[in-house]
Amino acid sequence: MPGCVIHAAGDLRVEDVPAPRPGPGEALVAVRYGGVCGSDLHYWRHGGVGDFRLRERMLLGHEVVGTVVAYGSPAPGPAAGTSVAVHPATPCGVCPECADGRRNVCRDTRYLGSAARFPHVQGGFAARIVVPAGQLRALPAGLGMRRAALAEPLSVALHAVRRAGDLAGRHVLVTGAGPIGCLVVAAAKAAGAAHVTVTDLLPAALEYARAAGADTLVRADDPQDANRPAEVDTAVEASGVAAGLDTCLRLVRRGGVVVQLGMLPQGPSPFAGNLLVSREIELRGAFRFDGEFDGALRLLAAEPAFDALVSAVVPVRDAASAFELAADRSRSCKVLLDFGAAPAA
Ligand code: ZN
Repeated sequence: MPGCVIHAAGDLRVEDVPAPRPGPGEALVAVRYGGVCGSDLHYWRHGGVGDFRLRERMLLGHEVVGTVVAYGSPAPGPAAGTSVAVHPATPCGVCPECADGRRNVCRDTRYLGSAARFPHVQGGFAARIVVPAGQLRALPAGLGMRRAALAEPLSVALHAVRRAGDLAGRHVLVTGAGPIGCLVVAAAKAAGAAHVTVTDLLPAALEYARAAGADTLVRADDPQDANRPAEVDTAVEASGVAAGLDTCLRLVRRGGVVVQLGMLPQGPSPFAGNLLVSREIELRGAFRFDGEFDGALRLLAAEPAFDALVSAVVPVRDAASAFELAADRSRSCKVLLDFGAAPAA
């Protein structure tokens, strides 16, 4: 069966991978769609993301929806034939962070398609995958698989918004209008933000942010842009570029909160850290998510506007062009790999 495997930086292959068999407590899932994430693109281009480096071949992908095929042993979970989204994380449950209720920063989590551990946890970009049964979530009524493929990145956005604190009635700045930034816009609106301003270098990306509900669009490379706000209440940095964080620190009001969500490059980042002191700004990181996944599915079921953020669906055999497309934000927002309809059970 076809799988989308990264071997090293620049070496992405669609190859025949062995069909997995579920063990006790595990489920076999026929994957329908897999969303191409910024981290997948980083593995492809750079052989790593943040501090995680590729050390062996790895199936990419952690934004996965499909159909339950079977369980390895009788397990509580959606019945065979049910459309499901796969929660990509299995935290260890025993480390200090898990004990503290911060399972998203578990020090020993297993996350689909991540090189954080060695051996790496293989990902979901294959026609069939085996995952712990507890990671399956049945899709709510009325939610199709195409839109449901946004559940994982929307969960990331919901977690960032939660980290930002109460947004009701606030003016929120989002730097970066990639898929995550756009989903942060939607999450902030759902959390009651009164006004959302988004910055990006690319007009096409800003148009996706508008579709996600942004009120004001700003060209990040134009200091004279008349839409640039004088001040915002809260900022979420979603570009993963230090200049974005710098912008957030300069525009957030005194005593405001800045959430760093974009994955900054390895090593030191230049930004105006003195503003943290003189304006008593709170800088908070946001990493992945935990319980937000169920809320993401409910939000997706209720809001057809999310469909606009899925800009292309590409057959897995053309994964290379899908990655090229996803990496070109002037032509795409979220790109899905299509593994084909599940065969009749
Ligand atoms: Zn843990």
